[in-house]
Amino acid sequence: MFLLDTLEQGLADLDARGLRRRRRIAETPCDAHMNVDGREILGFASNDYLGLAAHPALAAAMADGAARYGAGSGGSHLLGGHSRAHVQLEDDLAEFAGGFVDAPRALSFSTGYMANLATITALAGRGTTLFSDALNHASLIDGARLSRADVQIYPHAGTNALAAMLEASDAAVKVIVTDTVFSMDGDVAPLAALLALAERHGAWLVVDDAHGFGVLGPQGRGALAAAALRSPHLVYICTLGKAAGVAGACVIAHETVIEWLLQRARPYIFTTASPPAVAHAVSASIKIIAGEEGDARRAHLATLIERTRAMLRQTRWQPVDSHTAVQPLIIGSNEAALAVAARLDEAGLWVPAIRPPTVPVGTSRLRISLSAAHSHDDLARLETALRQLGEIEVPA
Ligand code: PMP
Repeated sequence: MFLLDTLEQGLADLDARGLRRRRRIAETPCDAHMNVDGREILGFASNDYLGLAAHPALAAAMADGAARYGAGSGGSHLLGGHSRAHVQLEDDLAEFAGGFVDAPRALSFSTGYMANLATITALAGRGTTLFSDALNHASLIDGARLSRADVQIYPHAGTNALAAMLEASDAAVKVIVTDTVFSMDGDVAPLAALLALAERHGAWLVVDDAHGFGVLGPQGRGALAAAALRSPHLVYICTLGKAAGVAGACVIAHETVIEWLLQRARPYIFTTASPPAVAHAVSASIKIIAGEEGDARRAHLATLIERTRAMLRQTRWQPVDSHTAVQPLIIGSNEAALAVAARLDEAGLWVPAIRPPTVPVGTSRLRISLSAAHSHDDLARLETALRQLGEIEVPA
């Protein structure tokens, strides 16, 4: 009993600190309006930034892929699981988002978490120094830990501090790693300055564009395209379960980097390849993202972002200066953030309260995630609900 008691105590402790997480059950496809836990809600919780997750063309592509390739891949990529659909997806992605490097090649993964672990552990090891932004995503942090490299954390977006760290380092291999769009703040990393530092110090720059791919840059080609950056030192990671609306991830880099990952990245080698139908659906998604429909969805999303920024400035809480679809409102304590989220929930709005360890202590927040699936009427409902929160009492 002793072992179970310890866990129960740990869970009770999470409860007491307002840190216990609970899952909700979606009964209908991910969309602005969904049935969750048996109730109709207006959702601001998803990363489905372009509103493609419920797109009939992608559901049809998934069904077509399953008809062609079956349900599962049957093996790892190096042992039988690599299909024509994966090859096609990698070619599509290298062409679509690989413009930042000569000879781009792409490698597909079943999740972004795995892609991050794989990339970092393949590029960094003992004798390497990794320079990591203080607000990087958990999967980059875990990759850094797994790599056994020396890890130096620079202050969020702190390019001066990073420059000093690079200057002082005599590591044989240096790797700078950053989110492009920070997932809990919505701000964009100073990519041009980071690349200039990487070039000056002979370092790799690994960027995780989970929240930028499909949304930023011309045709949604991502954060590097938006900043018009080019370098053989760049390694680009994008996830395909957010704006692309399906699942999976991809690493894009110079073909030599990709060949190295293929040979050495254990999270790539020792796992079953994703179902080919998933890759097939992502290829269909890229066509939508790159085309006129993608442009229209991004333009609509941009109007929603600007309207939300204006709306959040009117509340009693502190908005973050974000121009992306991630629009946080910093509330403060866990209890206060939970209380505010609960009031919104009563009004039929799902806006998640994000708490430590996902964000620093004392900065618990509502994270409003916008999607092209939202209408201006949906935003009007959010605005009304936030205005009504103006008067309520919340715990400190
Ligand atoms: N990087 C960032 C910045 C993310 O926000 C996420 C997902 N929350 C991931 C990587 C992981 O991607 P996936 O969900 O595909 O595992």
